[in-house]
Amino acid sequence: IVASRAAQPAEAISPAGPLWTLEEFLAATGGRVVGTPGQEITGISIDSRTLQPGEAFIAIKGDVFDGHQFVKAAIDAGAAIAVVAEDKAADLPADGPFVAVDDPLEALVRLGRAARARTNARIVAVTGSVGKTGTKEMLRLALSRCGTTHAAVASFNNHWGVPLTLARMPRESAYGVFEIGMNHAGEITPLVQMVRPHVAVITTVQPVHLEFFGSVEKIAAAKAEIFSGIEPGGTAILNRDNDQFDLLMFHARMSDVEHVRTFGVDHPADARAHKIAAQTGCTCISATIMGEEIAYKVGAPGFHYVKNSLAVLAAVKELGGDLALAGLALADMRAPKGRGAQTALRLPSGKATLIDESYNANPASMRAALRLLGETPVKAPGRRIAVLGDMRELGDAADGLHAALAEAVRSANVDLVYCAGPHMHSLWEALPTPMRGAYSEESKGLRPLLLNELRPGDVVMIKGSLGTRMGPLVDALTSEF
Ligand code: ATP
Ligand code: MG
Repeated sequence: IVASRAAQPAEAISPAGPLWTLEEFLAATGGRVVGTPGQEITGISIDSRTLQPGEAFIAIKGDVFDGHQFVKAAIDAGAAIAVVAEDKAADLPADGPFVAVDDPLEALVRLGRAARARTNARIVAVTGSVGKTGTKEMLRLALSRCGTTHAAVASFNNHWGVPLTLARMPRESAYGVFEIGMNHAGEITPLVQMVRPHVAVITTVQPVHLEFFGSVEKIAAAKAEIFSGIEPGGTAILNRDNDQFDLLMFHARMSDVEHVRTFGVDHPADARAHKIAAQTGCTCISATIMGEEIAYKVGAPGFHYVKNSLAVLAAVKELGGDLALAGLALADMRAPKGRGAQTALRLPSGKATLIDESYNANPASMRAALRLLGETPVKAPGRRIAVLGDMRELGDAADGLHAALAEAVRSANVDLVYCAGPHMHSLWEALPTPMRGAYSEESKGLRPLLLNELRPGDVVMIKGSLGTRMGPLVDALTSEF
């Protein structure tokens, strides 16, 4: 007689505990407890509008708002506890529940450190001038196939975003994915030392935020701060095709990083693509990742996703994940709104395509977006139309960097260019007359002209720095068509 295994009761899986018990939470934050906090903390919130009952609310002071204004709203929404500044405690409900500390942001950092200390998760951190969030999203998709994965929300990559992401990491996570950003030298060091990644990726170093740095070499040195927080035995993953590669290698050698892996397309690299086929809305790639062959598809179009995907697969392999599963997951990648998402525009006489890159712009991402426009098929009699707004924070180099885009516009076979903003006038002047659509000081000046210009088959790409307000142009086209 063979006992049927199916007849056995299923093995009970013990449910994961709360994110934090009150005891653990208070041990990490320190401070003076007021009232009766909930015993179990299910999440960490800094926004009373989205806070879920049972979460802890941390009153952070931002540029515009001070979280202390919303402590009452958070408690009304069911916060288990609020973390507040001692010097604001007198103005808060006398029955709490809250814990008063010297500085709530510091308490969040302590909570983040405690989360990192208690987990066995394998951790990856991503920095770079562009491509951080796209790379982080691909890592999240890829690692989720290999084990429970915790990842940063959106671009939570700064002095509050990083500790918040850490504090939200369940202890039983198998993988953690972090984005680390910076605008100034010295900002990455404290963040990476909190995250302590086993693997750190630098997507690329490019002339962005030049206004604060003065030179791209200084930007490379600031990105290299990430090496200072890599765990012993850990790995840095660097872009072999980047002009700053040698300088980053120099910084890596000067630091304690034990391993460096490279990714690239143009140069021999540990993770290298040898066949790349751009298709409508995706790219098919064959690559060798540290000796292992893989064919995979990235579900978001654009050469920059190809590059970033090589870094992702190299990181997965270094972290001990399954490369084949990771490759399959990348087919699910989609370009987010404002960062390459494509929409069909239904004109009265047929369809046109909108590529929405309106979220932000710098010389590197402008070139990537123009290249994407160039690789996007156009149906006759359609044309490629680029609608470009100023790239900000470029300091004295701004006008030259805008004019220099003329070459990228030409190589992308763009038919018509619309320009908005004072610096874009330099590009406008560098363009041959037949390519000139229209120029306006402000983006809203282009609105009626664009609505009038579009024809069936056109592909229109809209991009500019956040401050140039290109988003409303995207909204105008999508609501009209
Ligand atoms: P932020 O600093 O705003 O958080 P980020 O570094 O997270 O930006 P993403 O949001 O991933 O960057 O990408 C922004 C844009 O940068 C993309 O839409 C694309 O145009 C461009 N881009 C992404 N990766 C690369 C790359 N490897 N090289 C050049 N451009 C890239
Ligand atoms: Mg980002």
